[in-house]
Amino acid sequence: MAQDYEALLKQILEVASAYSNNAAPAASAPAPAPAPAPAACGLEPIPVGISNRHLHLSQADMDVLFGPGYELTKIKDLKQPGQFASKETVTIVGPKGALEKVRVLGPIRKATQVELLLGDSFKLGIKPPTRMSGDLAGSPGATIVGPKGTVVLSEGVIVAQRHIHMTAAEAAAYGVANGQTVSIEFDGPRCGVLGNVAIRAGEGHALECHVDTEEANALAITSDTTFKLIK
Ligand SMILES: [Zn+2]
Repeated sequence: MAQDYEALLKQILEVASAYSNNAAPAASAPAPAPAPAPAACGLEPIPVGISNRHLHLSQADMDVLFGPGYELTKIKDLKQPGQFASKETVTIVGPKGALEKVRVLGPIRKATQVELLLGDSFKLGIKPPTRMSGDLAGSPGATIVGPKGTVVLSEGVIVAQRHIHMTAAEAAAYGVANGQTVSIEFDGPRCGVLGNVAIRAGEGHALECHVDTEEANALAITSDTTFKLIK
């Protein structure tokens, strides 16, 4: 009888040990997948890029500001293919004030475009519309002061509309189309939803959501923040 109990106890211990082995996978077993970050539509999270005030220059305007035939000095590649931050800065002047050290982004464009923060517009006394890059018709101008000269811009000052760059294949995967607007929802202590986020899909775009520093600060967004895409 005592032996039966002993055998039974041994069996129970073996079973218990087998269970506990199951509960703690052997070192060779694959590690459990980390909890997924809040992703858009169950896809990879879209990286966030935060833009400060900046400008793009035409060659003609660059010649006036920096000297004939001047070329920008790249200091950092940006995520969008071919785009870069240059070492060059200028001063933007409006009726009420001036902003110094506004960074020039390359490469050269057909038309000069100044992208301000909304707060800048009060300091300068300029009322720029919120627009997509390149949509400059009817926008106000400003005076741009460089080391070699001054350009009086008749139009080209905007506040950038928030947007998401992606390839056509990525647009298909996310179920969105070029030109569509979506909302993006952020978690955290300053959580919130930003609407009117334009999809810019196609050739020459790399997956990245662009907001400006004011939008980022309002919701405590950093480049590591992930968001939920709402269609
Ligand atoms: Zn962008």
